[in-house]
Amino acid sequence: MKKIVFATSNEHKLEELKAICAGRCNVEFVLPPKGFKPVENGVTFEANSLKKAREAARLSGMPALADDSGLCVDALNGGPGIRSARYASTPQKRIDKLLDKMDEAIDRRAKFVCVMTLVDENGNVLAQKRGECHGQIAYEPSGTNGFGYDPIFIVNGTEQTMAELSEEEKNKISHRARALEQMIEFLKEFAG
Ligand code: IMP
Repeated sequence: MKKIVFATSNEHKLEELKAICAGRCNVEFVLPPKGFKPVENGVTFEANSLKKAREAARLSGMPALADDSGLCVDALNGGPGIRSARYASTPQKRIDKLLDKMDEAIDRRAKFVCVMTLVDENGNVLAQKRGECHGQIAYEPSGTNGFGYDPIFIVNGTEQTMAELSEEEKNKISHRARALEQMIEFLKEFAG
């Protein structure tokens, strides 16, 4: 088993990653060492994902995989986007703020975006993959699964929010799953 650091402090993301990769590539994912505090000052998901991966590789001396993700809403010019995690101080406040801003909006199109970057132990980029999941912003929250903005994101082609899908259903269609599917193909070559 090849050990790769997964550059996150979000346990939900680690669980999703492990569930999707299970039995498919010869990789054991471990959390970064204490003190992992990447500075996310890039202006794209690609740049921030690379910054996180490099910071985890630097701290651990191991290859690292990072995910940077967020919700991009058409009526908010792509916001909160890369600022999704910092949009307000708690997950509930972030949802309330977004629904408040969308109060008048007829166009409710939105997408979740995830960019995954894999670097070697020296921080050199080995692969970078993007996944998107398109949908609409609901008028009110619904569902208790998942995390973050899941309760207000209705997945295109369904009448359910991401938080109403089971973990298994989310992991088939989510932005993270779509980026990871492509990354798994690379990891199979990399780790056997
Ligand atoms: P990151 O940890 O810097 O990549 O921030 C991502 C933020 O985007 C999270 O804190 C959530 O607010 C939001 N987000 C990313 N992926 C998801 C998801 O699968 N469901 C709901 N919210 C998500």
